Amino acid sequence: MQQMPPKLEKLPELANNLWWSWNQEAREVWRRLDYPLWRSTTHNPVRMLHEISSEQLEKKANDPAFIRRLNKVLLNFEKAMSFEGSWFNTTYPQLTDKKIAYFSAEFGLHVSLPIYSGGLGILSGDHVKEAGDLGLPFVGVGFMYPQGYFRQRLPAHGWQEAVYQQLELDKSPVNIARDEQGNEIRISVKIGDSEVWARIWNVEVGRATLYLMDTDIEANDPWNREISARLYGGDTEMRIRQEIMLGIGGVRALRALGVQPDVWHMNEGHSAFLVLELVREIITQNGMSFHDAALQVRPHCIFTTHTPVPAGHDAFAFDLMDRYFWDYWEQVGLDREGFMNLGKHQEAWGEAFNMTVLALNMSGYANGVSQLHAEVSRNMWGSVWPEIADEKDIPIIGITNGIHVPTWIAMPMNNLFSRRLDPKWLVKHDDQALWELVDQIPDDELWQVHSELRYKLLSEIRERARRRWVQGNRDATEVITTGAFLDPDALTIGFARRFATYKRATLIFRDPDRLKRLLLNRDRPVQIIFAGKAHPADDPGKHMIQTIYNIAKSQEWGGRIAFLEDYDMHMGRYLKQGSDVWLNNPRRPREASGTSGMKAALNGVPNLSILDGWWVEGYNGANGWAIGSEHEYDNPEVQDASDAESLYQLLEQEIVPLYYDRDRDGIPRGWVQVMRESIRSNTAKFSMRRMVKEYAEQLYIPAMNGDE
Ligand SMILES: *Cc1c(COP(=O)(O)O)cnc(C)c1O
Repeated sequence: MQQMPPKLEKLPELANNLWWSWNQEAREVWRRLDYPLWRSTTHNPVRMLHEISSEQLEKKANDPAFIRRLNKVLLNFEKAMSFEGSWFNTTYPQLTDKKIAYFSAEFGLHVSLPIYSGGLGILSGDHVKEAGDLGLPFVGVGFMYPQGYFRQRLPAHGWQEAVYQQLELDKSPVNIARDEQGNEIRISVKIGDSEVWARIWNVEVGRATLYLMDTDIEANDPWNREISARLYGGDTEMRIRQEIMLGIGGVRALRALGVQPDVWHMNEGHSAFLVLELVREIITQNGMSFHDAALQVRPHCIFTTHTPVPAGHDAFAFDLMDRYFWDYWEQVGLDREGFMNLGKHQEAWGEAFNMTVLALNMSGYANGVSQLHAEVSRNMWGSVWPEIADEKDIPIIGITNGIHVPTWIAMPMNNLFSRRLDPKWLVKHDDQALWELVDQIPDDELWQVHSELRYKLLSEIRERARRRWVQGNRDATEVITTGAFLDPDALTIGFARRFATYKRATLIFRDPDRLKRLLLNRDRPVQIIFAGKAHPADDPGKHMIQTIYNIAKSQEWGGRIAFLEDYDMHMGRYLKQGSDVWLNNPRRPREASGTSGMKAALNGVPNLSILDGWWVEGYNGANGWAIGSEHEYDNPEVQDASDAESLYQLLEQEIVPLYYDRDRDGIPRGWVQVMRESIRSNTAKFSMRRMVKEYAEQLYIPAMNGDE
């Protein structure tokens, strides 16, 4: 890193805490420090400080306006780091010495740290940010994947290719955890025949800290170095090895760091082996039975399940479990049978050890991520509680997901809310009373800000297409498919998320001629922008990408369909802030919650969505559109046909006419009313702040006290 001039000596500290990424004034500091570098590093201040010239640093050190701006941000940063006055400290002053540990296989915090694949990871990242904002005593535990998740490349044939790149960790917002003597803190877990070592990286996320384990170190042989090499890149055996490290290694990492949690929160089943390690610790110290040790562990464990799709719950064959746990079960006071019973579950392919069943068996608290998902989960996992007769009594509660509002709000929208609602709106953004004031925002201002965001989205897309073109190694059609012909004034539908098949990305193409008539209408054109990656092992998902890619390529569709390559958080922000409508059409009830629609909603982008997940709770008849009904189908073919019909009707009869119904000033008054209602009704309700407060009140506080 460059030597800093004295007036800029705090910049490295500011760069090293991701707090800057959701603070608008702090972002402005980086932008003004060196704008071309801010762009070329895709908003990575740590890298900026490596690459910036000493002349530029000198220039900024001698720019009084910049220094004034910086000092103001540093003051706010200092305030934001102190727990004093935070929500948690004022609400629960007697609990401030407690600790919550939150385990997740992926965290989506910022585009410069690509250790997430989709909704689950972004949710974890948002959860950590908000937990810190509210002052919860909170640490996260996960993996540092030195190759991250794959980068998607779409060659001219449209079949997704996965490219893995080694991250430059010294230019990322991460630091190696060291003890007081300055030695790297390392932990080890016996996995199969070898002792596998991990070092630990710290990520500072506002007041919260994230600890990421990394097995890619010389102490390990090549096979074991691969354990944390990349996210979701391996087979089932790699998966169990990763999960042993995440759960068991994660507990050991916290102990080595001197963190003693009172609450253990498993975000998804990947980390569930941690419960076994907690039992093992107690037995090693006190020589109790498994039963008695489990009674001590359970009241402090929380499990959140995230999907009703059976394949989304990891299950391991018993022979695989034997290979990795044959010398572990006696350490937790069990024989083989007793041990296997902890996770025993009937899978489509036979009986196996299921991580969700293990987590449910060993947690005092469990929840699903929307009210509908909780209901589906009670039905799905009822067999874990054979003694409970009535499904309604199965102890899986619903806490509906939310999003971290400061992360997902667009800057011009943020400014508009500050101007028209309250300069301090962000401080009280989960207060519904604030949002009842949206009528104070004049139509023309809201429309103006939204139009600005749509132009920004489309110019970003065209700039990316142009860069591809000048790089030279791309076919012209590849440039066109990524949106070169998009029209900045056409009704723009956004669809971006993981390409899991239940999300039915191709549903809207069921009747191509009918869709073409909509898109190619000369007076009222419509365009659709797609983006998303399919899991590297998901061929049907890749097939869907290829189908849409080929449509985007075809002249017949007039350049009205685009498929953006390599979807990530950065592009996600542009899309959810600048589209006119956000489309989501999963096969109900497979979408546990969904969060991308929430990010669109608070930016005044109405949802057009199936009544699944969060939208069952969000839709109110005036804040967007509901595709289909709450009908339950046995036949997916019938379901698809019926949902597609509903989607076309909404577009033809309501959405397109309303969007193009302009007054003398060119403002679509009716449309703006839907935008306003979207903001009013969804922002507080689906904020991460509301969500984390519910986790605190319903789960964390009881688990801290150990009362189940
Ligand atoms: C929010 C988000 C998601 C989740 O999208 P869903 O439509 O809820 O599945 C996925 N990827 C990125 C990058 C996101 O920001």
